[in-house]
Amino acid sequence: MKYILAIDAGTTSSRAIIFDKNGQQKAIAQYEFPQHFPQESWVEHNANEIWETQLKAVVEVLASKDINSSEIAALGITNQRETTILWDRKTGEPVHNAIVWQDRRTASICDDLRDHAPTFLNKTGLVLDAYFSGTKIKWILDSDPAIRQRAEAGELAFGTVDSWLIWKLTHGKVHTTDVTNASRTLIYNIHDLCWDEELLSLLNIPASLLPKVVSSSEKVGETTEEVLGISLPISGIAGDQQAALFGQLCIEPGDVKNTYGTGCFCIMNTGEKAVTSNNKMLTTIGWQRNGKTIYALEGSVFIAGALIQWLRDQLQIIDSAPEVEALAKTVEHNGGVTFIPALSGLGAPYWDPEATGAIMGITRGTEKGHIARAALEAIALRSRDIIIEMQKDAQVEFSALKVDGGATANDLLMQIQADLLQTQVVRPDTTETTALGAAFLAGLAVGFWKDENELKSIWKENKTFSPQDNTHAERILYLWNKRISKMLKGNE
Ligand code: ADP
Repeated sequence: MKYILAIDAGTTSSRAIIFDKNGQQKAIAQYEFPQHFPQESWVEHNANEIWETQLKAVVEVLASKDINSSEIAALGITNQRETTILWDRKTGEPVHNAIVWQDRRTASICDDLRDHAPTFLNKTGLVLDAYFSGTKIKWILDSDPAIRQRAEAGELAFGTVDSWLIWKLTHGKVHTTDVTNASRTLIYNIHDLCWDEELLSLLNIPASLLPKVVSSSEKVGETTEEVLGISLPISGIAGDQQAALFGQLCIEPGDVKNTYGTGCFCIMNTGEKAVTSNNKMLTTIGWQRNGKTIYALEGSVFIAGALIQWLRDQLQIIDSAPEVEALAKTVEHNGGVTFIPALSGLGAPYWDPEATGAIMGITRGTEKGHIARAALEAIALRSRDIIIEMQKDAQVEFSALKVDGGATANDLLMQIQADLLQTQVVRPDTTETTALGAAFLAGLAVGFWKDENELKSIWKENKTFSPQDNTHAERILYLWNKRISKMLKGNE
């Protein structure tokens, strides 16, 4: 066997990628699907559109010229998390559009349950928020008495996108999800590793809806020939951030990866210990394999690459995102400018939803380049905020930060990150760490790769950024800390 097929079911597109034994990408296909916005703050997908685009992408890579599909050992799946789908077990038809993780319609359900927030936190590691699946399931059930009745009668199935795709790929034979996806639902007890009766009853969700929970790396079923033309074992499942953690081979406690996209998603392996954060970071399951459950801390920065988009679209000092690097290099340092990137409040560890952005320290000598540089520093400083707090929560030292996502193409940003953390920043060769993680999990389960050591031997870095210039980093940090506390005080 030569290949592993990975499905990467994202928020805006469905992708399929074939990797070889060296973890090299051999074929890729991608199809976007429509986003539906029925009301302000509502975001929906049509689950059939997710499936159809995903199937198209898989069929296309399987037909690649150089690939003999009989040489594919297994299929791994990674997916947008939390997005909620309910469908009819007999017909396979969804009863409602998928409610997407970004959708805020259930905020009032969360408010009503506020008194139980500590119970949700203790059992699931999550803050009681509309982001997660639990209140979205409740909303669909409450939206129509007929839907609730069918659910009570055991006629319906719930799943996140992984479950839905596995159901479709196995022609309705398998209804399952893995622990990482389950750990984002708000109804899964991450300590006892089971659906939690008390939480189900608080949300009035019948247990008959729920998929069987499996580990992230085991054979759960096979694709049927009538669907795909070939029968392939499905043997790896993980939500996107967890798959990226595994794809980055963050396999020791303290290993941490940060994804620099529109926002930043940071996740740290805390080993077999579920660590409770003092800073409202989420506790989640990193993966489960060979009977071992690995936990993680997760934190996000809302505005990262989005700050560069703001420089491009609103301030118009650059024409494209990559140009920010050249502009920032027109100056040697930030000229005393600090950019507080609170364009939609400030998340962990400040948690000030009312905070607004600010550019501070402007003088007559301030140039566009200083602002560009301060913006890149802001992305790195917010990521640092999260990583330092995670380190304190987990009480581990980390030796390097693994990075991925669109903005990691920016070498200057990566160097600033290394300087501010005083640690190495490692950018991998592949840009597809999420899909690679799903492929690794699937391949390990079927013996395509022997163990994590073999994965380490094929994992390739593109570049390591080593910390330089400590004094300058200290100056940036000094101004940042002083100015951010001033701004937060001003808001009181
Ligand atoms: P997402 O998955 O959130 O859409 P991507 O991983 O595709 O994000 O990265 C796109 C983001 O990265 C955009 O917000 C863009 O502004 C930013 N970005 C892209 N290239 C660069 C660059 N060279 N320097 C800084 N930011 C960049």
